Amino acid sequence: MGFFGKLFSSLADAFSQIDDEFYDELEEQMILGDVGVETSERIIEELRTKVFDRRIMRTSDCRELLKEAVREQMQPDEHAYDFENERSVVLVIGVNGVGKTTSVGKMAAMYKNEGKRVLMCAADTFRAAAIEQLTEWSRRAGVELIAQSEGSDPAAVVFDAARAAASRRTDILLVDTAGRLHNKKNLMEELAKIDRILAKEYEGARRETLIVLDATTGQNAMSQARQFMEAADVTGVILTKMDGSAKGGIAVAIQAELGLPVKFVGTGEKLADLKRFDPQEYVETLFAADEA
Ligand code: GDP
Ligand code: GDP
Ligand code: MG
Repeated sequence: MGFFGKLFSSLADAFSQIDDEFYDELEEQMILGDVGVETSERIIEELRTKVFDRRIMRTSDCRELLKEAVREQMQPDEHAYDFENERSVVLVIGVNGVGKTTSVGKMAAMYKNEGKRVLMCAADTFRAAAIEQLTEWSRRAGVELIAQSEGSDPAAVVFDAARAAASRRTDILLVDTAGRLHNKKNLMEELAKIDRILAKEYEGARRETLIVLDATTGQNAMSQARQFMEAADVTGVILTKMDGSAKGGIAVAIQAELGLPVKFVGTGEKLADLKRFDPQEYVETLFAADEA
C-alpha cells in the first residue's frame, strides 16, 4: 500500500521545482495506478489551484496539498451502513471470479460476530460447485444457508430464503448470485424477478445491492461497475483482492467517477479478511510512507 506516498517521494526526488513536467508525470503515474483519467485530471487541477493560491514552489512542500486534493474526491457517505441497522436484504452481484461467494461468507461471519441474526441464500444455482462453496462458508461462519439444487430458478431460492427470513425475524439476509453478465437484459429480468419476490415475500425489508469488484483488474472493474449500474440499482461496492497487486488507486476512481461508495474491502481468502471501508482513513494509508 502507500501508493501515493511512494509515488510522491520518487517524484519529489526527481523534480525539485513544481512545473508542468512535474504535473504531467504525477498525472501519468496516477493513471497507471488505477486512479482513472478523469479523476487524475481533476486531482491535478485541484492541486494546481492549491499550489498557486498558497504560493508553493517546491515539490516537497506540496505533499499535503496533494493529499487534500485526493481526499476531496472521496465523498464519505454517512448513510453507507444504515442498512445494517435495519431489517435488510443484501444482494451481492458481479461477474464471475471477483469474489462474490467469498464476500458473502465473510459478511455472514462478520454480522454474526456482531450479534445479528443472519441468513444466507445460494441464488447462484448455475453450477453445483457454487452451492457447495457457499455451503462450506455457511459451515465456517456458523450461519444457516437456504439453497436448492443446481439448475433451479434463482428466484425460487430467493423466495424460500425470503419466507425463511420473514418467519425467523432475520436481521440481514445475504444473497449470493450468479456472475452472468453476457446479456444485460437477462440480468435485468432476473433482478427484477428477485425484486418482485422480495417485495411480496419480505415486505418492508431494506434493499442493499452491492457490486463486487476485483481491485487487481483496474479499468475492467470500472467498466463492469458501469454495466451493472445500468441494469441494477447498485448501492455500493465490495472491493476485493486488495491484498494482492492492486495499487489502490481504484478505490479513488470508484468513488469519484462512479459516485458509488466503496463499503467493504476484501483483503484475503479467509473468514476475517473483510473490513468496512473508511475513505478518509484510506487516504492516510495511500499516503503512508512505504514499509518496504
Ligand atoms: P465469485 O465467482 O464472484 O463468487 O468469486 P469467489 O468468491 O468464488 O472467489 C474467486 C476467487 O477469488 C477465490 O479463489 C477466492 O478465494 C478469491 N478471493 C475472493 N476474495 C478475495 C480477496 O479479498 N483476496 C484474495 N486474495 N482472494 C480473494
Ligand atoms: P447461454 O445459452 O449460456 O447464454 O445461457 P442462457 O441464458 O440461454 O441460459 C441457459 C439456461 O440456464 C436457461 O435454462 C436459463 O434459465 C438458465 N440460466 C441462465 N442464467 C442463469 C443463472 O444465473 N442461474 C440459473 N440458475 N440459471 C440460469
Ligand atoms: Mg460465486
